[in-house]
Amino acid sequence: MTRLVLVGPPGAGKGTQAGTLSEKLGVPHISTGDLFRAHIGDGTALGRSVKGILDAGKLVPDEVTNEMVRERLAEADAQDGFLLDGFPRNIAQAEVLDKILAESGHKLDAVVEFQIDEDVVVDRLLSRGRTDDTEEVIRHRQHVYRSETEPLLNHYRDLLLTVDAVGDVDEVTSRVLRSLDEKPHGQA
Ligand code: ADP
Repeated sequence: MTRLVLVGPPGAGKGTQAGTLSEKLGVPHISTGDLFRAHIGDGTALGRSVKGILDAGKLVPDEVTNEMVRERLAEADAQDGFLLDGFPRNIAQAEVLDKILAESGHKLDAVVEFQIDEDVVVDRLLSRGRTDDTEEVIRHRQHVYRSETEPLLNHYRDLLLTVDAVGDVDEVTSRVLRSLDEKPHGQA
């Protein structure tokens, strides 16, 4: 069983890694950013209500995000494990996640931190070209990460595996897999 959370600043390469890791570990990749963008692309009511927030690099209100994640985690493919990417993004969301898991008698196995310098990620994001990838919005997302999301590293200190996210995509994947293998906590 593999219940993992991926944490790292915007541009750290979590999404790319999550795709590969999801295949290797046989659990679904659940990205809140992707779920929101799918809603926006499909023109749902939820999508229309969050589009401006994503474009500004702000966080979607917790109630909306938490409910979307609760529903996604209730789906059949997520019962034996998942890779959460982009959630939780603040302590309140982490507490909700703990509650959702506890309701089905589960807990997280590990939290993987992608460690990388802010200057490196800003350069990466500027070359990506998403609508929320202007320099100003990118800087704002980095700020939100530092103030809201970084405190999670302490919240999850007992589950934390820190991986150097600078390097080849394959190299970073190997580092994550190696650190999961060596993981001293739990029984994953
Ligand atoms: P990045 O990792 O580049 O910040 P994501 O795809 O993870 O991009 O998220 C894009 C946007 O979706 C965020 O800037 C935010 O507006 C919204 N979002 C994603 N996850 C959450 C969350 N857990 N809580 C609130 N907003 C979120």
